[in-house]
Formats: sequence, C-alpha cells, structure tokens
Amino acid sequence: MSPAQIEKAEKRKRDEDVAVSKKSKKEKKEKKDKKKDKKDKKVAKPVEEKMDVDAAPAAAAPAAVEPKKTIKKNVEILASYKYQQDDELTALPQSTIDEFYKKHTIEVTGDLKLRPILEFKQAGLPDNILEVVKNFANPTPIQAATWPITLSGRDIIGIAETGSGKTLAFTIPGLVHIAAKLKKGKKSGKPSMLVVSPTRELAMQSAEQAEAAGKAVGVTSICVYGGVDKQPQRRAFQRGVDIVVATPGRLIDLINEGTCDLTEVSFMVLDEADRMLDDGFENDIRSIMSYSPKDRQTLMFSATWPESIRKLASDFLNNPMRVTIGSPDLAASQNVQQIVKVIENPRDKERHLLDLLKKVHKSRTNRVLIFALYKKEAIRVERSLEYHGYKVVGIHGDKNQQQRTEALSSFKDGSFPLMIATDVAARGLDIPDVEYVINLTFPLTIEAYVHRIGRTGRGGKKGIAYTFFTPEDKSHSGELINVLKQANMEVPEELMAFGTTVKKKTHSAYGAFYKDTGGEVKKATKIVFD
Ligand code: AMP
Repeated sequence: MSPAQIEKAEKRKRDEDVAVSKKSKKEKKEKKDKKKDKKDKKVAKPVEEKMDVDAAPAAAAPAAVEPKKTIKKNVEILASYKYQQDDELTALPQSTIDEFYKKHTIEVTGDLKLRPILEFKQAGLPDNILEVVKNFANPTPIQAATWPITLSGRDIIGIAETGSGKTLAFTIPGLVHIAAKLKKGKKSGKPSMLVVSPTRELAMQSAEQAEAAGKAVGVTSICVYGGVDKQPQRRAFQRGVDIVVATPGRLIDLINEGTCDLTEVSFMVLDEADRMLDDGFENDIRSIMSYSPKDRQTLMFSATWPESIRKLASDFLNNPMRVTIGSPDLAASQNVQQIVKVIENPRDKERHLLDLLKKVHKSRTNRVLIFALYKKEAIRVERSLEYHGYKVVGIHGDKNQQQRTEALSSFKDGSFPLMIATDVAARGLDIPDVEYVINLTFPLTIEAYVHRIGRTGRGGKKGIAYTFFTPEDKSHSGELINVLKQANMEVPEELMAFGTTVKKKTHSAYGAFYKDTGGEVKKATKIVFD
C-alpha cells in the first residue's frame, strides 16, 4: 500500500470509530430523551428521532429540538403569513427594478405583475423563517424574482443554474405552504411537498436544507434514492413526513410497492428538469406527476429551455410564470479561465495529468476536481494517483452510496483535496473552493463540459479549468471553440486545426439552437409598475 492508501484506510477506520461512538452516544441520548418525554409530554419529540438517519444521511446532523409549544406557535405565525405587494416595503420604483433585472439578466414572462424582493425584509416573512437566511446579505436573483410568484401560489418555471440559490428559492415558499396546511389540521403523515432531483447527491443537499429550514416549524423531511437499503426509507414513510426529496427511480419503486403515497402532495418541485430528461427519466417523471393531485402548485427548475422541457411544462404546469436568470443558451461562467491543451496521443493524458498536478497542486492542500468519462477510467486514475502519493478520492457509478458520500465529505473537508469524478458529479454539487477543474477526458456533450467547469469559480470566486483535448474528441472542436470564444478565452491553434464546424444538434438539452416559438407562456413582455 502507498502512504496515501494507508492514510485513506486509516481515515475510514477513524470515521467508523467516530460513527460507532456517535451512535452509542446517540442511543444513550435517545433513551434518556424517551424517559424525559414520558415524564413531560409538553416537550417535543426530537426532529432527529423522527428522521431516519439512513434514509437521509445528509440531514443527520443533530437538530436543536424546539419544544412542541414553540413549534405550534411558529406554525401559526408562518401560516398566517401572506405575501403583500405594493406596501411601503415592496413598492420599489420601476428604475430600481429595471436596473436589477438588467444587472442580473433577468427576464420574467407571464401575466402576473409582481415586483422582485431585493432585500429579505421586503418579503415580510416572519423571523422564525428568516432565521434560515440570517447569514446571507440579500436574496440571490432567482430568489428575488421567484419568491413573489411562488409565495402567491402560482406555478413557475425557473431557468437558472445550480449554485444560484434555487434550493431556498423553493424551500421557503414550500414551508409557508406546508404551515398553512398544518394549521388547518393536517397531521404529519403523507407528504405535502415533493422535490424530484436527478442525482442522489443533489437530493441529499436539498434534503439537508429542507431539514434545517423546517426545524422551526417541526416539518420533517426525508431523502430517498436508489442504491441503498429500502427498509429505512419505508420506516420513515410509515412514521410520516412532510417533505420528500427523491430521485425518480427509487421514488417510483416506493410508489409501486405502496410505501409512498403522493395523494396529498400539493407543492411539487422538479429540480434540474433538463438533466432528468437527459438521464432518461421522462416516463418516471410523467408517472410521478400523475400520482399527485392535479390542483397542486408546481415549480420546475432547469438550466436550459429546450423543446422537451417546454413540452413537459405545458403538460404539467398551470399557466406558469417563467423567470430566466442569465441566458438560457449555453454559456460558460465568466469566472472560469478555460485552458485547452491539445494532446496528440490519448495514451499520454495521464502523464500530462501528473505534470499538471505538479504545477497546480503543489501545495497538496488546494481542491482540484478531475473529470473522467468512464467509471473504469476513474478507477484506474484514482489508483494511479494514489500510487504517486496523492490523497485522492473518487466518485462514480460503481461506488455504493456510502462510499460516494464518504468520498464527497473527505473532498469537502479537505482531508482528500483531489477528487476524480465521472459526470455523475458534474452538476448539482455545491462544493466550495474548488480551485481547479481538470477535464482528463472530454465529456460526451458540450453541455456537460460547461457544467463540469462550472464546479470552479463559484460564489463570486475565480477558478481555472484545464481540458485535455485529443483527436478522439474531434467532433466537439467546433462547439468548444464557440464556448471559448463566447467567454473571450484564447483558442489554441491546434484546436482550430480540428475544425470549427458545429453539427446541427439533435441533443434535446441543447439550448443554443432552439427557437422560442412561445411555448406555453406568452412571449416576454416587459412588466411595468409605475
Ligand atoms: P443552490 O443553488 O440552492 O445549490 O445554492 C448554492 C449555494 O448558495 C448554497 O451554498 C446556498 O447555501 C447558498 N445561498 C442560498 N441563498 C443564498 C443567498 N441569498 N445569498 C448567498 N448565498 C446563498
């Protein structure tokens, strides 16, 4: 074993030991809590206890327990909240709105005339829910533009990238919606809110935020995804939940076996809808929609706006408003410097990778994310980097969920600052401070390239993306050149030599070639307030 392999094994052992000791502490605490509960019925059952740790590993951090009385009061306060426009706080002048929309390239389409919420206080939300955003200065553009619409109960399509703050854009209105139902006497049981996500990792991130945000009002969440034992997920459903965050395949399984009942879902979110269609989940999504009531409120988020997504929206959303942040066409983040290295012989890529790491990962502490195309490639390169003494972890489809979660947290906490991933990790993951992305092998689509490099340069920081391009990737040269030019990046001569032609796309998720024929919502009309 290399030193890095030994260290990895030791870390796993340490983590296991910590987990065991946490578990026994937790068991003791639960016993004590149960005794206390019997003695004093007024004290609420811990949210953590109601949750299934296996079913929602991302949300398993011990939650501060709110007493039942406080929760009841919080629910009442939140349930009586009604979004107000045109009062002193929200009546922004047209010039301020125009400036905001222009600065963030926001377009709002549809028949509802609502001003954006530029400061949290303009939402008029009660303090118990504002607690969730207390560390943020202002709403992000997607929150600013969608909250008034969603809080008014309308269906909405949000065209925005992951990383734009869209989880809270839908979670906070979702909680307001659930509080209103709880106040009317609905008991936690069948879920009221469903979030469908394309990947397990994204689902876990959303569940984590939902769990944290729902604590004050006693709203429980679970996260269900495939690749893990169904039993804990079944038990969580039996105990009753308010919010389900799920990947489509496992959700359908649980519906079909009668574990999950969507008949009370009145707030539905389709997250990264374009990605789900790309991954072949269209039929699953259509079935999921058909299992939930028609009069639900539906929110759909997508990074692009191709024909397939417009069709889905027109089939399942009711007179939706549409909010587009930035261009719905394919555009690389301006915060990422893109460097393309043409390598004549694909066999030389790994040698080039080692040379590059010597340069960009000299400190061996900065976070570098390497993308491979195939699982086998990811496995081979992970081993090779370990052999060369790097502290590296990998995530790809051959790893089970626990291994993927462990790898991700070791990368996030910096103990293993190198990660090699297949495209499973390319979208949706919110990993802070990835300094470099290296595309060891070019992805299958130019969209995936844009999403991969978007893992760096996040949160206003600058990032650098290196891409190895070989004659095997020739068919992507024209598209890559376009993306580079659009972002004002240097285009290497050797890349130009592969040709600049872009094949007419048949790929459904590609936004750059669609013509907006209006779809299910009217063409953009400027909404004027004054
Ligand atoms: P998301 O697009 O939901 O994955 O969010 C990306 C990141 O933005 C997450 O780390 C959020 O915690 C963070 N975030 C959400 N809302 C805000 C906000 N209003 N201001 C700053 N960061 C935010």
